Amino acid sequence: MGDALKQKIQDVFDEPACGQNVNKSEQQRKKGCAKPLTPGAAAGGCAFDGAKIALQPIVDVAHLVHAPLACEGNGWDNRGASSSGSQLYRTGFTTDMTELDIVMGHGEKKLFRAIREVIEAHAPPAVFVYSTCVPALIGDDIDAVCKAAAEKFGTPCIPVNAPGYVGSKNLGNKLAGEALLDHVIGTIEPEECTPYDVNIVGDYNLSGELWQVKPLLDRLGIRILGSITGDARYRQVAMAHRARVTMLVCSKALITLARKLEERYGIPFFEGSFYGISDTSDAIRTLCRMLVERGADPDLLERCEALIAEEEAKIWAELETLRPRVEGRRVLLYTGGHKSWSVVSALQELGMEVIGTSVRKATDDDKDRVKEIMGDDKHMFENMAPKEMYRLLKDAEADVLMSGGRSQFVALKAKMPWVDVNQEKHEPYAGYMGMVDMVRAIDRAVNNPMWADLRAPAPWEEDTGPVRVMPELRGTCPVSGVSNDAVDFEDC
Ligand code: SF4
Repeated sequence: MGDALKQKIQDVFDEPACGQNVNKSEQQRKKGCAKPLTPGAAAGGCAFDGAKIALQPIVDVAHLVHAPLACEGNGWDNRGASSSGSQLYRTGFTTDMTELDIVMGHGEKKLFRAIREVIEAHAPPAVFVYSTCVPALIGDDIDAVCKAAAEKFGTPCIPVNAPGYVGSKNLGNKLAGEALLDHVIGTIEPEECTPYDVNIVGDYNLSGELWQVKPLLDRLGIRILGSITGDARYRQVAMAHRARVTMLVCSKALITLARKLEERYGIPFFEGSFYGISDTSDAIRTLCRMLVERGADPDLLERCEALIAEEEAKIWAELETLRPRVEGRRVLLYTGGHKSWSVVSALQELGMEVIGTSVRKATDDDKDRVKEIMGDDKHMFENMAPKEMYRLLKDAEADVLMSGGRSQFVALKAKMPWVDVNQEKHEPYAGYMGMVDMVRAIDRAVNNPMWADLRAPAPWEEDTGPVRVMPELRGTCPVSGVSNDAVDFEDC
Protein backbone atom coordinates (compact mmCIF):
# COMPACT_ATOMS: atom_id res chain seq x y z
CA MET A 1 0.00 0.00 0.00
CA GLY A 2 1.41 3.40 -0.92
CA ASP A 3 2.29 5.91 1.78
CA ALA A 4 -0.31 8.40 0.59
CA LEU A 5 -3.09 5.80 0.82
CA LYS A 6 -1.86 4.63 4.24
CA GLN A 7 -1.94 8.20 5.48
CA LYS A 8 -5.42 8.75 4.04
CA ILE A 9 -6.74 5.63 5.79
CA GLN A 10 -5.30 6.70 9.14
CA ASP A 11 -6.83 10.11 8.59
CA VAL A 12 -10.36 8.78 8.02
CA PHE A 13 -10.08 6.37 10.97
CA ASP A 14 -9.21 9.23 13.30
CA GLU A 15 -12.58 10.99 13.12
CA PRO A 16 -13.11 13.59 15.86
CA ALA A 17 -16.78 14.11 14.95
CA CYS A 18 -17.63 10.47 15.68
CA GLY A 19 -18.49 9.92 19.36
CA GLN A 20 -17.61 6.22 19.25
CA ASN A 21 -14.22 6.94 17.73
CA VAL A 22 -13.36 9.62 20.27
CA ASN A 23 -13.97 7.14 23.11
CA LYS A 24 -11.50 4.62 21.69
CA SER A 25 -7.87 4.18 22.69
CA GLU A 26 -5.14 5.32 20.29
CA GLN A 27 -4.48 1.71 19.28
CA GLN A 28 -8.15 0.83 18.71
CA ARG A 29 -8.51 3.96 16.59
CA LYS A 30 -5.68 2.83 14.32
CA LYS A 31 -7.53 -0.43 13.66
CA GLY A 32 -10.52 1.46 12.32
CA CYS A 33 -14.20 1.00 12.99
CA ALA A 34 -14.99 -2.09 10.94
CA LYS A 35 -14.20 -5.69 11.72
CA PRO A 36 -11.23 -6.99 9.72
CA LEU A 37 -12.22 -9.21 6.83
CA THR A 38 -11.83 -12.97 7.14
CA PRO A 39 -10.12 -14.40 4.07
CA GLY A 40 -12.39 -16.85 2.32
CA ALA A 41 -15.51 -15.76 4.18
CA ALA A 42 -18.37 -13.93 2.51
CA ALA A 43 -17.47 -10.76 4.33
CA GLY A 44 -20.08 -8.47 2.79
CA GLY A 45 -18.03 -6.34 0.44
CA CYS A 46 -14.55 -4.90 0.06
CA ALA A 47 -13.37 -1.29 0.17
CA PHE A 48 -13.74 -0.96 -3.61
CA ASP A 49 -17.32 -2.17 -3.27
CA GLY A 50 -17.96 0.48 -0.61
CA ALA A 51 -16.49 3.24 -2.77
CA LYS A 52 -18.61 2.15 -5.71
CA ILE A 53 -21.77 2.07 -3.57
CA ALA A 54 -21.11 5.65 -2.43
CA LEU A 55 -20.25 7.07 -5.85
CA GLN A 56 -22.28 5.09 -8.37
CA PRO A 57 -25.44 7.14 -7.67
CA ILE A 58 -23.73 10.08 -9.46
CA VAL A 59 -25.74 9.27 -12.53
CA ASP A 60 -24.28 11.28 -15.41
CA VAL A 61 -20.61 10.29 -15.05
CA ALA A 62 -18.80 7.21 -16.33
CA HIS A 63 -17.62 4.83 -13.60
CA LEU A 64 -14.53 3.10 -14.97
CA VAL A 65 -13.15 0.21 -12.93
CA HIS A 66 -9.44 -0.50 -13.44
CA ALA A 67 -9.42 -4.22 -12.71
CA PRO A 68 -9.82 -7.75 -14.00
CA LEU A 69 -13.38 -8.23 -15.14
CA ALA A 70 -14.72 -9.80 -11.94
CA CYS A 71 -14.39 -6.68 -9.77
CA GLU A 72 -16.88 -4.77 -11.88
CA GLY A 73 -19.17 -7.79 -11.86
CA ASN A 74 -18.99 -7.74 -8.07
CA GLY A 75 -19.55 -4.02 -7.62
CA TRP A 76 -21.96 -3.11 -10.41
CA ASP A 77 -25.23 -1.51 -9.30
CA ASN A 78 -25.55 -3.76 -6.27
CA ARG A 79 -27.79 -1.34 -4.38
CA GLY A 80 -30.33 -0.26 -6.96
CA ALA A 81 -29.81 3.53 -6.82
CA SER A 82 -32.41 5.27 -8.99
CA SER A 83 -31.92 8.08 -11.49
CA SER A 84 -34.37 10.69 -12.73
CA GLY A 85 -32.30 11.26 -15.88
CA SER A 86 -29.07 9.87 -17.28
CA GLN A 87 -28.57 6.12 -17.15
CA LEU A 88 -24.84 6.27 -17.87
CA TYR A 89 -24.02 5.28 -14.29
CA ARG A 90 -25.50 1.85 -14.89
CA THR A 91 -23.19 1.09 -17.81
CA GLY A 92 -20.32 -1.07 -16.60
CA PHE A 93 -16.92 0.18 -17.78
CA THR A 94 -13.80 -1.79 -16.95
CA THR A 95 -10.27 -2.11 -18.29
CA ASP A 96 -10.63 -5.90 -17.99
CA MET A 97 -6.97 -6.46 -17.05
CA THR A 98 -5.52 -9.79 -18.11
CA GLU A 99 -2.44 -11.78 -17.02
CA LEU A 100 -0.60 -10.36 -20.02
CA ASP A 101 -1.31 -6.76 -18.93
CA ILE A 102 -0.01 -7.61 -15.48
CA VAL A 103 3.12 -9.42 -16.65
CA MET A 104 3.97 -6.88 -19.35
CA GLY A 105 3.09 -3.86 -17.21
CA HIS A 106 0.43 -2.57 -19.65
CA GLY A 107 -2.09 -1.57 -16.97
CA GLU A 108 -1.58 2.19 -17.05
CA LYS A 109 -1.57 2.39 -20.86
CA LYS A 110 -4.72 0.30 -21.00
CA LEU A 111 -6.38 2.57 -18.47
CA PHE A 112 -5.46 5.70 -20.44
CA ARG A 113 -6.90 4.17 -23.62
CA ALA A 114 -10.05 3.14 -21.79
CA ILE A 115 -10.58 6.69 -20.50
CA ARG A 116 -10.20 8.01 -24.05
CA GLU A 117 -12.69 5.47 -25.40
CA VAL A 118 -15.26 6.29 -22.72
CA ILE A 119 -14.95 10.05 -23.30
CA GLU A 120 -15.17 9.69 -27.10
CA ALA A 121 -18.19 7.39 -26.92
CA HIS A 122 -20.21 9.08 -24.15
CA ALA A 123 -18.83 12.59 -23.53
CA PRO A 124 -19.54 12.41 -19.77
CA PRO A 125 -18.98 15.47 -17.55
CA ALA A 126 -16.38 13.37 -15.66
CA VAL A 127 -14.87 9.90 -15.47
CA PHE A 128 -14.49 8.26 -12.06
CA VAL A 129 -11.58 5.80 -12.13
CA TYR A 130 -11.57 3.10 -9.44
CA SER A 131 -8.45 1.32 -8.30
CA THR A 132 -8.81 -2.32 -7.24
CA CYS A 133 -6.55 -4.99 -5.71
CA VAL A 134 -4.63 -6.11 -8.80
CA PRO A 135 -3.54 -2.73 -10.23
CA ALA A 136 -2.83 -1.43 -6.72
CA LEU A 137 -0.62 -4.43 -5.97
CA ILE A 138 1.38 -4.08 -9.19
CA GLY A 139 1.75 -0.36 -8.53
CA ASP A 140 -0.36 1.23 -11.30
CA ASP A 141 -0.51 4.96 -10.58
CA ILE A 142 -4.11 5.86 -11.31
CA ASP A 143 -3.62 9.41 -9.99
CA ALA A 144 -0.96 10.07 -12.64
CA VAL A 145 -3.03 8.48 -15.43
CA CYS A 146 -6.12 10.49 -14.42
CA LYS A 147 -4.10 13.73 -14.36
CA ALA A 148 -2.62 13.05 -17.81
CA ALA A 149 -6.01 12.06 -19.26
CA ALA A 150 -7.78 15.10 -17.80
CA GLU A 151 -5.18 17.41 -19.35
CA LYS A 152 -5.27 15.63 -22.71
CA PHE A 153 -9.06 15.29 -23.08
CA GLY A 154 -10.27 18.27 -21.05
CA THR A 155 -12.63 16.12 -18.97
CA PRO A 156 -12.18 15.75 -15.20
CA CYS A 157 -10.89 12.26 -14.37
CA ILE A 158 -11.32 11.44 -10.68
CA PRO A 159 -9.07 8.79 -9.13
CA VAL A 160 -10.81 6.74 -6.44
CA ASN A 161 -8.12 4.99 -4.43
CA ALA A 162 -9.95 2.27 -2.51
CA PRO A 163 -8.54 -1.11 -3.57
CA GLY A 164 -10.47 -3.97 -1.99
CA TYR A 165 -7.70 -5.31 0.22
CA VAL A 166 -7.33 -2.12 2.30
CA GLY A 167 -10.43 -2.94 4.32
CA SER A 168 -14.16 -3.06 4.61
CA LYS A 169 -17.04 -1.57 2.67
CA ASN A 170 -17.39 1.11 5.33
CA LEU A 171 -13.79 2.21 4.78
CA GLY A 172 -14.48 2.30 1.04
CA ASN A 173 -17.39 4.70 1.68
CA LYS A 174 -15.04 6.97 3.58
CA LEU A 175 -12.35 6.86 0.88
CA ALA A 176 -14.99 7.71 -1.72
CA GLY A 177 -15.85 10.78 0.35
CA GLU A 178 -12.16 11.73 0.38
CA ALA A 179 -12.01 11.45 -3.43
CA LEU A 180 -14.92 13.89 -3.69
CA LEU A 181 -13.29 16.31 -1.26
CA ASP A 182 -9.92 16.16 -3.02
CA HIS A 183 -11.05 16.31 -6.62
CA VAL A 184 -14.70 17.33 -7.06
CA ILE A 185 -16.27 19.50 -4.34
CA GLY A 186 -15.48 23.17 -4.86
CA THR A 187 -14.53 22.88 -8.54
CA ILE A 188 -17.71 24.49 -9.94
CA GLU A 189 -19.44 27.66 -8.75
CA PRO A 190 -23.26 27.76 -8.84
CA GLU A 191 -24.83 30.46 -11.03
CA GLU A 192 -26.94 31.54 -8.09
CA CYS A 193 -26.82 30.85 -4.37
CA THR A 194 -29.83 31.12 -2.09
CA PRO A 195 -30.24 30.96 1.72
CA TYR A 196 -32.26 27.78 1.15
CA ASP A 197 -29.47 25.66 -0.35
CA VAL A 198 -28.65 22.41 1.47
CA ASN A 199 -26.47 19.34 1.09
CA ILE A 200 -27.95 15.91 1.65
CA VAL A 201 -25.05 13.57 2.41
CA GLY A 202 -25.31 9.77 2.71
CA ASP A 203 -28.60 9.24 0.89
CA TYR A 204 -28.13 7.19 -2.28
CA ASN A 205 -31.73 7.32 -3.53
CA LEU A 206 -32.01 3.57 -3.19
CA SER A 207 -35.21 2.41 -4.85
CA GLY A 208 -36.15 6.11 -5.10
CA GLU A 209 -36.19 7.04 -1.39
CA LEU A 210 -34.93 10.58 -1.97
CA TRP A 211 -37.98 11.21 -4.17
CA GLN A 212 -40.23 10.56 -1.17
CA VAL A 213 -38.55 13.43 0.68
CA LYS A 214 -37.61 15.93 -2.04
CA PRO A 215 -41.23 17.07 -2.70
CA LEU A 216 -41.48 18.10 0.98
CA LEU A 217 -38.32 20.21 0.69
CA ASP A 218 -39.57 21.64 -2.63
CA ARG A 219 -42.76 22.80 -0.93
CA LEU A 220 -40.69 24.71 1.63
CA GLY A 221 -38.52 26.21 -1.11
CA ILE A 222 -35.43 24.32 0.08
CA ARG A 223 -33.06 23.41 -2.74
CA ILE A 224 -30.78 20.35 -2.66
CA LEU A 225 -27.70 22.06 -4.02
CA GLY A 226 -25.28 19.27 -3.21
CA SER A 227 -26.56 15.73 -3.32
CA ILE A 228 -23.97 13.25 -2.10
CA THR A 229 -24.86 11.19 -3.87
CA GLY A 230 -28.54 10.30 -4.35
CA ASP A 231 -29.72 10.91 -7.94
CA ALA A 232 -26.77 13.33 -8.22
CA ARG A 233 -25.26 15.03 -11.24
CA TYR A 234 -21.54 15.78 -11.33
CA ARG A 235 -22.18 19.52 -11.19
CA GLN A 236 -24.35 19.10 -8.11
CA VAL A 237 -21.53 17.41 -6.22
CA ALA A 238 -18.97 19.95 -7.43
CA MET A 239 -21.13 22.84 -6.12
CA ALA A 240 -21.74 21.35 -2.65
CA HIS A 241 -19.34 23.82 -1.04
CA ARG A 242 -21.88 26.67 -1.44
CA ALA A 243 -24.70 25.08 0.57
CA ARG A 244 -25.80 26.65 3.87
CA VAL A 245 -26.43 23.44 5.85
CA THR A 246 -25.51 19.78 5.48
CA MET A 247 -27.80 16.99 6.58
CA LEU A 248 -25.97 13.73 7.16
CA VAL A 249 -28.52 11.01 6.53
CA CYS A 250 -28.25 8.03 8.87
CA SER A 251 -24.64 7.47 8.09
CA LYS A 252 -21.50 7.48 10.13
CA ALA A 253 -19.59 6.40 7.00
CA LEU A 254 -19.58 9.89 5.48
CA ILE A 255 -19.22 11.83 8.71
CA THR A 256 -15.63 12.78 7.79
CA LEU A 257 -16.94 14.36 4.59
CA ALA A 258 -19.55 16.34 6.51
CA ARG A 259 -17.01 17.45 9.10
CA LYS A 260 -14.51 18.56 6.46
CA LEU A 261 -17.23 20.50 4.61
CA GLU A 262 -17.75 22.36 7.87
CA GLU A 263 -14.04 22.97 8.45
CA ARG A 264 -13.19 24.00 4.89
CA TYR A 265 -16.33 25.88 3.85
CA GLY A 266 -18.07 26.72 7.14
CA ILE A 267 -21.15 24.58 6.41
CA PRO A 268 -22.61 23.26 9.70
CA PHE A 269 -24.02 19.74 9.66
CA PHE A 270 -26.43 17.61 11.65
CA GLU A 271 -27.29 13.94 11.63
CA GLY A 272 -30.88 13.09 10.81
CA SER A 273 -33.04 10.34 9.44
CA PHE A 274 -35.94 10.14 7.03
CA TYR A 275 -37.15 6.80 8.42
CA GLY A 276 -40.25 6.97 10.58
CA ILE A 277 -42.77 9.75 10.99
CA SER A 278 -41.33 11.58 13.98
CA ASP A 279 -37.78 11.31 12.60
CA THR A 280 -38.80 12.81 9.30
CA SER A 281 -40.50 15.69 11.11
CA ASP A 282 -37.46 16.21 13.35
CA ALA A 283 -35.09 16.22 10.36
CA ILE A 284 -37.14 18.79 8.44
CA ARG A 285 -37.53 20.93 11.56
CA THR A 286 -33.77 20.91 12.26
CA LEU A 287 -32.96 21.67 8.63
CA CYS A 288 -35.27 24.69 8.67
CA ARG A 289 -34.01 25.94 12.04
CA MET A 290 -30.40 25.79 10.89
CA LEU A 291 -31.22 27.51 7.60
CA VAL A 292 -32.91 30.35 9.52
CA GLU A 293 -29.84 30.63 11.75
CA ARG A 294 -27.78 31.00 8.59
CA GLY A 295 -29.86 33.72 7.00
CA ALA A 296 -33.11 32.24 5.65
CA ASP A 297 -36.37 34.12 6.28
CA PRO A 298 -37.73 33.22 9.79
CA ASP A 299 -41.16 32.55 8.27
CA LEU A 300 -39.61 29.25 7.10
CA LEU A 301 -40.14 27.90 10.64
CA GLU A 302 -43.85 28.63 10.52
CA ARG A 303 -44.23 27.12 7.06
CA CYS A 304 -42.27 24.10 8.23
CA GLU A 305 -44.57 23.49 11.21
CA ALA A 306 -47.64 23.89 9.01
CA LEU A 307 -46.26 21.36 6.52
CA ILE A 308 -45.38 18.87 9.27
CA ALA A 309 -48.85 19.18 10.85
CA GLU A 310 -50.56 18.69 7.49
CA GLU A 311 -48.41 15.73 6.43
CA GLU A 312 -48.58 13.95 9.78
CA ALA A 313 -52.38 14.29 9.88
CA LYS A 314 -52.66 12.95 6.33
CA ILE A 315 -50.34 10.02 6.99
CA TRP A 316 -51.95 9.02 10.28
CA ALA A 317 -55.35 9.03 8.59
CA GLU A 318 -53.97 6.62 5.98
CA LEU A 319 -52.25 4.46 8.57
CA GLU A 320 -55.46 4.19 10.62
CA THR A 321 -57.13 2.40 7.70
CA LEU A 322 -54.31 -0.18 7.81
CA ARG A 323 -54.27 -0.53 11.61
CA PRO A 324 -56.87 -3.35 11.87
CA ARG A 325 -54.82 -5.43 9.43
CA VAL A 326 -51.56 -5.22 11.39
CA GLU A 327 -52.59 -4.49 14.98
CA GLY A 328 -51.39 -7.07 17.50
CA ARG A 329 -48.88 -8.64 15.11
CA ARG A 330 -45.55 -9.64 16.62
CA VAL A 331 -42.47 -8.36 14.78
CA LEU A 332 -38.81 -9.37 15.03
CA LEU A 333 -36.63 -6.61 13.64
CA TYR A 334 -33.16 -7.55 12.46
CA THR A 335 -31.66 -4.45 10.95
CA GLY A 336 -29.31 -2.00 12.63
CA GLY A 337 -28.16 1.56 13.14
CA HIS A 338 -30.87 4.16 13.63
CA LYS A 339 -33.51 1.82 12.16
CA SER A 340 -33.23 -0.30 15.32
CA TRP A 341 -35.39 2.31 17.05
CA SER A 342 -36.92 4.61 14.43
CA VAL A 343 -38.91 1.76 12.88
CA VAL A 344 -39.77 0.33 16.33
CA SER A 345 -41.58 3.43 17.50
CA ALA A 346 -43.61 3.65 14.31
CA LEU A 347 -44.64 -0.02 14.51
CA GLN A 348 -45.61 0.31 18.16
CA GLU A 349 -47.73 3.34 17.41
CA LEU A 350 -49.70 1.11 15.03
CA GLY A 351 -50.37 -1.45 17.74
CA MET A 352 -47.73 -3.98 16.66
CA GLU A 353 -45.57 -5.70 19.23
CA VAL A 354 -41.81 -5.66 18.61
CA ILE A 355 -40.42 -8.79 20.26
CA GLY A 356 -36.81 -7.89 19.56
CA THR A 357 -34.59 -5.50 17.65
CA SER A 358 -30.96 -5.88 16.69
CA VAL A 359 -28.56 -3.06 17.54
CA ARG A 360 -25.84 -3.98 15.06
CA LYS A 361 -23.96 -0.88 13.84
CA ALA A 362 -26.02 1.17 16.30
CA THR A 363 -24.39 3.97 18.28
CA ASP A 364 -24.73 4.39 22.06
CA ASP A 365 -27.39 7.02 21.38
CA ASP A 366 -29.30 4.56 19.23
CA LYS A 367 -29.14 1.96 22.00
CA ASP A 368 -30.42 4.47 24.57
CA ARG A 369 -33.33 5.27 22.30
CA VAL A 370 -34.19 1.56 21.97
CA LYS A 371 -34.18 1.23 25.77
CA GLU A 372 -36.36 4.28 26.13
CA ILE A 373 -38.90 3.08 23.55
CA MET A 374 -39.00 -0.58 24.60
CA GLY A 375 -38.77 -0.01 28.35
CA ASP A 376 -35.64 -2.13 28.92
CA ASP A 377 -32.75 -3.64 27.03
CA LYS A 378 -33.84 -7.27 27.13
CA HIS A 379 -35.27 -7.00 23.64
CA MET A 380 -32.00 -5.69 22.22
CA PHE A 381 -29.50 -8.03 20.67
CA GLU A 382 -26.30 -7.71 18.68
CA ASN A 383 -25.44 -10.20 15.95
CA MET A 384 -27.52 -13.33 15.96
CA ALA A 385 -26.63 -16.69 14.45
CA PRO A 386 -29.26 -18.05 12.03
CA LYS A 387 -29.95 -20.99 14.36
CA GLU A 388 -30.70 -18.64 17.24
CA MET A 389 -32.86 -16.44 15.04
CA TYR A 390 -34.83 -19.50 13.95
CA ARG A 391 -35.38 -20.47 17.59
CA LEU A 392 -36.45 -16.95 18.54
CA LEU A 393 -38.90 -16.78 15.65
CA LYS A 394 -40.43 -20.08 16.70
CA ASP A 395 -40.34 -19.64 20.50
CA ALA A 396 -41.54 -16.06 20.57
CA GLU A 397 -44.18 -16.90 17.99
CA ALA A 398 -43.33 -13.94 15.81
CA ASP A 399 -45.69 -13.10 12.96
CA VAL A 400 -43.11 -11.49 10.71
CA LEU A 401 -39.35 -10.98 10.40
CA MET A 402 -38.15 -7.61 9.10
CA SER A 403 -34.52 -7.81 8.04
CA GLY A 404 -32.07 -7.83 5.16
CA GLY A 405 -31.96 -10.38 2.37
CA ARG A 406 -29.45 -12.65 4.07
CA SER A 407 -31.90 -13.64 6.82
CA GLN A 408 -34.88 -14.25 4.57
CA PHE A 409 -34.24 -17.99 4.34
CA VAL A 410 -34.27 -18.34 8.12
CA ALA A 411 -37.76 -16.83 8.11
CA LEU A 412 -38.94 -19.01 5.27
CA LYS A 413 -37.58 -22.11 6.98
CA ALA A 414 -39.53 -21.12 10.08
CA LYS A 415 -42.60 -20.69 7.79
CA MET A 416 -42.67 -17.03 8.72
CA PRO A 417 -43.43 -13.99 6.50
CA TRP A 418 -40.44 -11.75 5.80
CA VAL A 419 -40.19 -8.05 4.86
CA ASP A 420 -36.98 -6.63 3.41
CA VAL A 421 -35.93 -3.42 5.19
CA ASN A 422 -32.28 -3.24 4.16
CA GLN A 423 -30.53 -1.28 1.45
CA GLU A 424 -31.11 -3.88 -1.27
CA LYS A 425 -34.90 -3.69 -0.95
CA HIS A 426 -36.99 -2.78 -3.97
CA GLU A 427 -39.52 -0.55 -2.23
CA PRO A 428 -38.75 2.90 -0.80
CA TYR A 429 -39.70 3.45 2.85
CA ALA A 430 -38.47 7.01 3.46
CA GLY A 431 -40.40 10.08 4.55
CA TYR A 432 -44.05 10.10 5.58
CA MET A 433 -45.28 8.19 2.55
CA GLY A 434 -42.60 5.55 3.09
CA MET A 435 -44.13 4.54 6.42
CA VAL A 436 -47.45 3.82 4.72
CA ASP A 437 -45.62 1.75 2.10
CA MET A 438 -43.83 -0.19 4.82
CA VAL A 439 -47.03 -0.98 6.70
CA ARG A 440 -48.64 -2.05 3.43
CA ALA A 441 -45.68 -4.40 2.86
CA ILE A 442 -46.19 -5.88 6.36
CA ASP A 443 -49.90 -6.26 5.68
CA ARG A 444 -49.20 -8.03 2.35
CA ALA A 445 -46.73 -10.35 4.03
CA VAL A 446 -48.62 -11.36 7.18
CA ASN A 447 -52.08 -11.55 5.65
CA ASN A 448 -51.07 -13.56 2.62
CA PRO A 449 -53.37 -16.61 2.57
CA MET A 450 -50.56 -18.89 1.44
CA TRP A 451 -49.12 -19.00 4.99
CA ALA A 452 -52.14 -20.95 6.24
CA ASP A 453 -51.59 -23.54 3.48
CA LEU A 454 -47.87 -23.68 4.12
CA ARG A 455 -48.30 -24.27 7.84
CA ALA A 456 -51.03 -26.87 7.42
CA PRO A 457 -49.79 -30.49 7.60
CA ALA A 458 -48.72 -32.01 4.27
CA PRO A 459 -51.19 -34.57 2.84
CA TRP A 460 -48.94 -37.45 3.94
CA GLU A 461 -48.83 -36.06 7.47
CA GLU A 462 -52.59 -35.92 7.81
CA ASP A 463 -54.41 -38.41 9.96
CA THR A 464 -56.44 -40.58 7.56
CA GLY A 465 -58.27 -42.44 10.31
CA PRO A 466 -57.90 -46.11 11.31
CA VAL A 467 -56.05 -48.40 8.91
CA ARG A 468 -58.48 -50.46 6.83
CA VAL A 469 -58.04 -54.20 7.43
CA MET A 470 -58.10 -56.18 4.17
CA PRO A 471 -60.50 -59.13 4.15
CA GLU A 472 -58.90 -62.52 4.58
CA LEU A 473 -58.07 -64.44 1.36
CA ARG A 474 -60.34 -67.35 0.77
CA GLY A 475 -60.71 -70.03 -1.91
CA THR A 476 -58.45 -70.54 -4.95
CA CYS A 477 -56.49 -67.88 -6.91
CA PRO A 478 -58.20 -67.47 -10.32
CA VAL A 479 -54.80 -66.87 -12.05
CA SER A 480 -52.44 -69.40 -10.47
CA GLY A 481 -55.05 -71.85 -9.39
CA VAL A 482 -53.29 -72.18 -6.03
CA SER A 483 -55.59 -72.83 -3.14
CA ASN A 484 -55.35 -70.40 -0.30
CA ASP A 485 -55.24 -73.29 2.08
CA ALA A 486 -51.99 -74.49 0.42
CA VAL A 487 -50.04 -71.30 1.26
CA ASP A 488 -48.51 -71.03 4.65
CA PHE A 489 -48.31 -67.27 5.16
CA GLU A 490 -46.28 -67.76 8.27
CA ASP A 491 -43.39 -68.88 6.01
CA CYS A 492 -43.52 -65.83 3.79
S1 SF4 B 1 -11.20 -5.00 -5.39
FE1 SF4 B 1 -10.14 -6.80 -4.62
S2 SF4 B 1 -11.47 -7.62 -2.99
FE2 SF4 B 1 -12.69 -6.15 -4.19
S3 SF4 B 1 -13.72 -7.38 -5.77
FE3 SF4 B 1 -11.80 -6.68 -6.70
S4 SF4 B 1 -10.32 -8.29 -6.27
FE4 SF4 B 1 -12.07 -8.65 -4.90
